[in-house]
Amino acid sequence: MGKDMKSKEALNKEAAILLKPILEKKASGGNITARERLAIPPQEMPVQDSQVRSGNVSEVALGYGEAQARLEAERCLGCKNQPCVAGCPVQVPIPRFIREIQQGNFKAAVDIIKETNLLPAVCGRVCPQEKQCQAECTVGKSLKNVEKAVAIGRLERFAADWERDRGALTVPAVKAPTGKKAAVIGSGPAGLTAAADIAREGHEVCIFEAFHKPGGVMVYGIPEFRLPKAIVQLEIDNLRKMGVKIEPNFLVGRTRTVSELLNDDGFGAVFIGAGAGLPKFLGCPGENLVGVFSANEYLTRANLMKAYDRERAATPMFPSRITAVIGGGNVAMDAARMALRLGSEEVHVVYRRTREEMPARAEEVEHAMEEGIIFDFLRNPSRILGDEKGCVTGMELQQFELGASDVSGRRRPVPIPGSEYVYNCDTVIVALGNESNPLLVRTTAALNADRRGRIIVDERQKTSLDRVYAGGDIVLGAATVILAMGEGRRAAAAINEILF
Ligand SMILES: Cc1cc2nc3c(=O)[nH]c(=O)nc-3n(C[C@H](O)[C@H](O)[C@H](O)COP(=O)(O)OP(=O)(O)OC[C@H]3O[C@@H](n4cnc5c(N)ncnc54)[C@H](O)[C@@H]3O)c2cc1C
Ligand code: SF4
Repeated sequence: MGKDMKSKEALNKEAAILLKPILEKKASGGNITARERLAIPPQEMPVQDSQVRSGNVSEVALGYGEAQARLEAERCLGCKNQPCVAGCPVQVPIPRFIREIQQGNFKAAVDIIKETNLLPAVCGRVCPQEKQCQAECTVGKSLKNVEKAVAIGRLERFAADWERDRGALTVPAVKAPTGKKAAVIGSGPAGLTAAADIAREGHEVCIFEAFHKPGGVMVYGIPEFRLPKAIVQLEIDNLRKMGVKIEPNFLVGRTRTVSELLNDDGFGAVFIGAGAGLPKFLGCPGENLVGVFSANEYLTRANLMKAYDRERAATPMFPSRITAVIGGGNVAMDAARMALRLGSEEVHVVYRRTREEMPARAEEVEHAMEEGIIFDFLRNPSRILGDEKGCVTGMELQQFELGASDVSGRRRPVPIPGSEYVYNCDTVIVALGNESNPLLVRTTAALNADRRGRIIVDERQKTSLDRVYAGGDIVLGAATVILAMGEGRRAAAAINEILF
């Protein structure tokens, strides 16, 4: 164990000691006052030791034990106005599920979450709660620190894991067959949610997925050490049990077009949840050198092709000594931490602004720093340098300073003239975000999209075409799992209406 790091068992034991008098007071009919709740220490998430975890791909966060979960739940004030619910993109009834955890009714808690969120084990792990529900939490506001808000995401994860660990995952009920069919393009969170909600109504659903494995970014983008693939797999198995068919290796726009699905294959409606899988590049000289990757390609090889399993991987990864990752979002953090696990001796994150402006989740930045990733702030490559064999040898980096705020509210990075210097590395991973793949828009007449290729929809997710709906990253641009799920759900409700 690293310095000051406590094991899951030790943290749970400490929590059990603090929980005992609270439960005794409640059992004897007493009330826990708001003041007492605010005095309960926020429960730390047990994690794998940073020295150990940088050499494996197992999940970093280990999840609360029962006593920790119940003690954390006791911090909730059960606010009547429920500000946390307003901060949740799918309005999970947060105080209701937390109350069940307080009482030890963990199955009831997860059932409440699932009223509005199909994938709580995923969202409990990857949602940016500090910018959503927890940002609005009264406890965080009272203690003047968002990090001390009730750990809603961790409690959501606890309830979902509790159900899964006991094999108690229930298959949602499906109504009698209606004889109607819907096609779903893409098996990311938007597509899976839409498919489940359409199948529940008794309609036949077929998901067409370009990759050989379903799950979208949850499987090929977000690494195992943040989101174990077995969790996503179980949700997909459940969908299959509901009767949903999944056709892998099926690229709509090539294998079949949207209009063929609608007009020749008997589908009454189509939902497009094709994500934003087209990586952005720097556009600087040297990007074609050997050793330059898009974060998408790098992570897909590592996750989907299991390149981290160095002894057995069919597609071994490029051997890196010094890796530089360009960008400051979640994708950059994932790529940097994966590079470390794939054997890079030194990994740097190169970002044009400072830590305050980084869009990545605070926890991911902290974890990356603990693991030894080096952050080079206020820098950006002006070119990538190579040797006579066309392999990366380094970058020319320019230094930046922060100027006035831009439209995003973040201070604009301003280049410092003449500040360029050479920086040695053999691998460059570009993690500047993704845009929509233009294939579906190009192959579907009159399907309207904006300048950046995002499909345009109305408030019910309907596109410019009748019977064609879209949602998730293909509409929002690169966004989040929960927002994609919310759009999938809204589209499914509209599709269910037109299929009757
Ligand atoms: C590395 C990485 C880390 C991230 N971390 C987080 C995080 O921590 N928290 C968070 O909330 N969000 C995170 N995100 C963003 C989040 O994963 C996405 O917003 C979300 O997955 C979008 O869901 P989606 O269903 O719209 O698309 P996707 O998950 O992209 O799924 C789309 C699917 O459609 C398939 N497809 C595409 N075109 C076709 C076609 N023509 N025919 C058939 N199939 C097709 C694709 O193969 C893919 O499987 C991360 C993204 C990445 C890349
Ligand atoms: S805002 Fe915080 S304290 Fe209030 S109900 Fe929601 S989680 Fe509980």
